[in-house]
Formats: sequence, structure tokens, C-alpha cells
Amino acid sequence: MYINVFKFGGAAVNSAAGVKNVADILAQSDANHLLVVVSAMGKTTNALEVLLKNYRNNDPITVIESYKQVHDYHYSILEGLFEDKNHMVFGEVDSLFNMLRGYIRKGHLFTNEPLAYDFEYDQMVCFGELLSSTILYHYLALKSRSVKLFDVRDLIRTDSTFRDAHVDWKITEKLIQKTIPGFFHDHPEHGAIALTQGFIGSNSSGNTTTLGREGSDFSAAIFAWCLHSKEMTIWKDVPGVMNADPKWMADSVCLDTLSYREAIELAYYGASVIHPKTIKPLENANIVLRVRSFVDPNLPGTCIKNLRHWKIQIPIFIRKQDQILISLSPRDFSFILEENLSEIFRILANFRVKVNIMQNSAISFSICVDADPQKINPLIAYLKQDYETRYNDGLELFTIRHYTDGALNSIIRGRKVMMELRSRSTVQVVLK
Ligand code: ASP
Ligand code: MG
Repeated sequence: MYINVFKFGGAAVNSAAGVKNVADILAQSDANHLLVVVSAMGKTTNALEVLLKNYRNNDPITVIESYKQVHDYHYSILEGLFEDKNHMVFGEVDSLFNMLRGYIRKGHLFTNEPLAYDFEYDQMVCFGELLSSTILYHYLALKSRSVKLFDVRDLIRTDSTFRDAHVDWKITEKLIQKTIPGFFHDHPEHGAIALTQGFIGSNSSGNTTTLGREGSDFSAAIFAWCLHSKEMTIWKDVPGVMNADPKWMADSVCLDTLSYREAIELAYYGASVIHPKTIKPLENANIVLRVRSFVDPNLPGTCIKNLRHWKIQIPIFIRKQDQILISLSPRDFSFILEENLSEIFRILANFRVKVNIMQNSAISFSICVDADPQKINPLIAYLKQDYETRYNDGLELFTIRHYTDGALNSIIRGRKVMMELRSRSTVQVVLK
């Protein structure tokens, strides 16, 4: 049985018109069996993060405000999709909001230790995907598609690393194989759809977990791998994988093909077009990844596959904003040696801070990381015990693959270079 996997991100379903457009794309697809993964609508995940923050601060007024924002946004989309105000979707969305309110009312389950934050994060932020999938499901069902909604927490099993859960591939494959092909077997009609949520999973105790921000691409790859798909498509608001984010580089161009290897490199350096964990399972099973535009589904998009001799004539730019550069020197005036380095990496791993780039000299070690205050503030406080710790925030990190001097200069343009790293194929600069 051949099952194709589609993934629609938040931008694809950020309005009633968006949901209708997704339904049109699905209706026009020539795939026989489709497994569809959907993310939270628009910027809902960010909005839920704000709600979580207010809730953790025990601030009732801002809690109500931020809750209402998420609530009203979804109801405005519902209003635009369902004329019949007695449609059962309203009741189901109500009950999801009741559950979210119930969670908020219960108060803190744990103290303020970092793990508790991550746990609560997953229990609250998952509502974005639960809401979007419920709404999309009912809209597709209304358009008389043969469609079924699957709760992904019954399908993707993870460990308990909340906010960054690791997939148990063996159990997940079993759960997916036991469920999804059977559905298509019972629904042999052309275009049957199994719909599910991206980003979330559950641990063996049944607690909701999440796979890391923007993790829905990875969810789709998990399904493609477990279902032995030949192809998976990520639908985006850009024509495909661009050589730079069109939001800041107006003359960026779409790449028609990419090798898995290059796609992994781009994701590793922070290209936001594909989640870093997505490519590896696809490469392992030789599943072709297409990145296509939901704005203009007629465009061919980018095709990512196994290409041994892939070459590119133009540089590819990756920009990461909100960076912080942290420099450490041992307080005891010792040199930075292997022991210090392994100690520092152990601390970074404990605080779950990912290093974007690093550099060391005899007496200091510098890292550039995402300025996530939840993680960075306690990290810096901890490091200060043993290291003279200085930091510089509000920085940008640019990576240029297949760079030229001209390309690098066009990025620096008189700004202060705080750190630079070059290899044959890649240059990275941290700019103030
Ligand atoms: N909704 C989640 C996020 O915004 C997951 C995703 O969109 O891939 O991070
Ligand atoms: Mg999203």
C-alpha cells in the first residue's frame, strides 16, 4: 500500500481562507492515500507560550487576556468555516478549551524547577495542534471527504524529555503500522485522508510530550518512515527551499533540487525551512521530500533526494537572530584545556543549550547560542561560579554555504564582526 505524507504548517491554516485552501489542495491531490500532519494555526504556539508564562507568573489578569486571545482567534476561524452554528465542531472546540481552562485552574503541579516548566509547557502548548486538527478535520468531513482524525499521542511514543522528546522508533512504528494502513484498507476510495497532529507525542505514562519548536516537519517524517512512504510533501508559504529567507532578502531564488546532505547542513545551520531532525529518517529510507507552496500549488517547489553529485552555483544564506555570545575564562587562571571543555559541554547539555558556533583560545572559550532567557539566565548564573563569564546579546549569526567574498561582504556591510569561522564550503559570522 502506498501512503503519501503531507504536512501543513501553521501559516497554511492561519485563517478560514487558509483552511479552505488546504482542503482544495487535498481535493486536487492525485495521491490515493494521504496521511496529513497539521500544526497549530498561525502563531498559536507563540500565543500559548505567552499564556503559559502568565500562568506560571500567577497573574490572573494577563492569564485571562492571553487565554482569550487564543480562544477568540480560533472562534473567528470557526465562524468563517461553519455556517451551521449547531455543527458539532463547536462543541468539540469548546471541550478542548474547557480542558485548557481546567489545566490553568488546577495551578502548578510542581515547583519552579526547570523540568516542571518543560512538563507544563507540553501539557498546555499541545492544545494548539489539538484545536487545529479538530477544526480541519470537521471542515474536510463537511466537504464529504473520507477522513478520520487520529490523536497522534496514540501513535508517536517518546521518552519523557518534555519540550524536546526523543522518539521511540520501535514502539512508534508498531503503533502506526497497527493503525494507519488498516484505515486505508477499510477506505479504499481515492483520496482517503488520515489526519493527525504534528509536534506532539506521548510518553509511556500517557503524558503529552512535544518534539521541539517547529517539530511538525519531523512528525511528518516519522510517519513517512514508519509507513514506508516514497514521498513526503511539506507545504509552505514560500515557493520551496530558497537560497535566503525572502522576508529579508528580496532577490532570493528557489532551489529546484537539493541533496539530503545539503538539506541536513542547511537545517543544522538553522535554515528555518526544514526542521533539523526531519531529513535523516527520510534519507535512511530514501523517501523523496518535496517542499511546495500552498500559496501557489502549481509551482514545482524543491525536490530533496539522494543526489551524489549535487552542485550549486549560488551561495545559500542562513540568518539567525536573537543570538547571545558567551565568553568564559576559568577563574583560577588556568588555560582552557580538555577538562574545561568537557566540563563546559556537560553543563551546556544539562541546561539543554545548543551551541550554534564556538571558538576557543588559550584562556577563553566563546559560544554563540539562541537567547532563550528560560535557559540562558540559569546557565549564566551557574557558569559564573567557576568561570569569568561575559556576554553580549542582541546579535545575529549569519551562515553562508558555498560563499564568495562578495556574498560575505554583502552581509557584513560595515557591521561589527564579533566572531568569524570559515571552512572550505561555509563561513559563519556573528554580527552586532
Ligand atoms: N506548532 C509548533 C510550533 O509552532 C510546531 C510546528 O509548527 O511545527 O513550533
Ligand atoms: Mg507552528
